[in-house]
Amino acid sequence: MYDPLVHPFPDKSQPDPDSYWLKVSGAAAPDDDGPVAGDAEVDVAIIGGGYTGLSAALALARDHGIKATVLEARSSAWGCSGRNGSFARISGGRVPWSQLVKTYGPDVARAYFQELRQGLDTVRALIADGGIACDKQPDGVYKVATFGTHADALRREEALYNGVLGYPARYIGASGLRGIHEGSESHGALYLPDGFSLNPLELARGLHRMARDHGARIHTNSPVTRWISDGGANRLVTPTGTIRARRVIVATNGYTSSRLHPSLAARVLPVHSQIIVTAPMSAAQVEASLPSGKCMFDTRELLFYYRRLPDNRMLFGGRSAISGNDAAAPRHRQYLYDAMVRKFPALAGIDVEHWWGGWVAVSRNSLPYCYRVPGANDVFTAGGYAGSGVSFSIHLGTKLAMLAAGRPFETSATFLTREPERYPFASFIRLGQWMAYRWLHAKDAREARRAG
Ligand SMILES: Cc1cc2nc3c(=O)[nH]c(=O)nc-3n(C[C@H](O)[C@H](O)[C@H](O)COP(=O)(O)OP(=O)(O)OC[C@H]3O[C@@H](n4cnc5c(N)ncnc54)[C@H](O)[C@@H]3O)c2cc1C
Repeated sequence: MYDPLVHPFPDKSQPDPDSYWLKVSGAAAPDDDGPVAGDAEVDVAIIGGGYTGLSAALALARDHGIKATVLEARSSAWGCSGRNGSFARISGGRVPWSQLVKTYGPDVARAYFQELRQGLDTVRALIADGGIACDKQPDGVYKVATFGTHADALRREEALYNGVLGYPARYIGASGLRGIHEGSESHGALYLPDGFSLNPLELARGLHRMARDHGARIHTNSPVTRWISDGGANRLVTPTGTIRARRVIVATNGYTSSRLHPSLAARVLPVHSQIIVTAPMSAAQVEASLPSGKCMFDTRELLFYYRRLPDNRMLFGGRSAISGNDAAAPRHRQYLYDAMVRKFPALAGIDVEHWWGGWVAVSRNSLPYCYRVPGANDVFTAGGYAGSGVSFSIHLGTKLAMLAAGRPFETSATFLTREPERYPFASFIRLGQWMAYRWLHAKDAREARRAG
């Protein structure tokens, strides 16, 4: 499969994912502008047609009067945006709040929390404004204690949410989870009232339609294969024509090839996340696993995220593969299956009908970014959502549009607008990740032994 650390761009030979979302929504995508046809000159080009790129295109056209040109290697939302776990949450990056407060102080942490909340509001507003039929579910997110020993940490997190962040998160003891989250790893939870699941592909298709309705052009099957910076302009070479752009927004996130632009290389680690979706569960299986249809994730170091879909299937995701070469190995599917059955023994033997994965982007400080690329010709980029980008990518897409339109993105969450540091020893990056996974698995195993 396409691997950003190996391949120069996602080419035509890369298959579409075996995703549940493609099955329920159908392969028929909204109208687009086809591949680039010949050479052209544009004001703003956007590389990547996921949430970040599409929301930037929409905001540029709707709010700033700039009709941008999107260049997407495959089809709209072919990357993470069309194949994710479907949770829109107040979340971005993967730094625990306690660490964020310690590193940046409470004021910056609060400012970041507000940005994240605005991210969710941005998505709510877009769904309403665009009448996007993306099967949005009622709000409510549970962070569920995998082991009894994790309950105290959730209580501390509740205090931090309530005190420092001023947010009404609520700890629920194990008995309070009955009828919501059953099974053998149900030792209490932190409940966050905001956050919902939806059909992520339909959300992206809705953004695509809105952006085009406002005048953006969206070229599919138009990978940027070479980027030539000449004079004050950028020449973006695609197989069917070259786009000369005064300003460029890079919205390729976890799918950014190391070869796209020298200033962007090694700024994110592409991390593979995978999902299985089962056959529909029986009523008894639903009762013994997830009677609630809300968003769930657990407290393991290498966490799992899961939900019951409206047609009573279980969607269950997590991370295990390291490279694109390895991602299709059946042991990764089995890894998710075993974890699901360990959590919900009533699901033993259930069929898996879909299994797919994609690349999320993790920056060195594990936080998102949105900045003007120093030393480049009017280039702007955002990403690094680390598996929590459904709402924040859309939010930062609107901020990228502001930057490209010549307006500042003012935020007290100062780290957001800084260029992320490069990963050192880029050629050994995967070895480092493999070692980190071993260590995290060992920590989870130790915790399981401690909990008995
Ligand atoms: C399995 C999985 C589960 C996830 N679950 C969740 C979740 O439940 N909640 C959550 O908040 N987040 C989740 N995420 C993360 C979330 O989906 C992403 O953060 C978000 O979609 C990022 O959007 P994006 O537009 O920045 O990037 P993407 O949607 O990945 O888009 C990047 C695009 O760039 C294109 N591209 C790359 N190179 C080129 C080139 N050279 N030329 C032209 N185009 C190019 C790619 O084809 C791709 O379409 C998940 C991700 C995965 C993979």
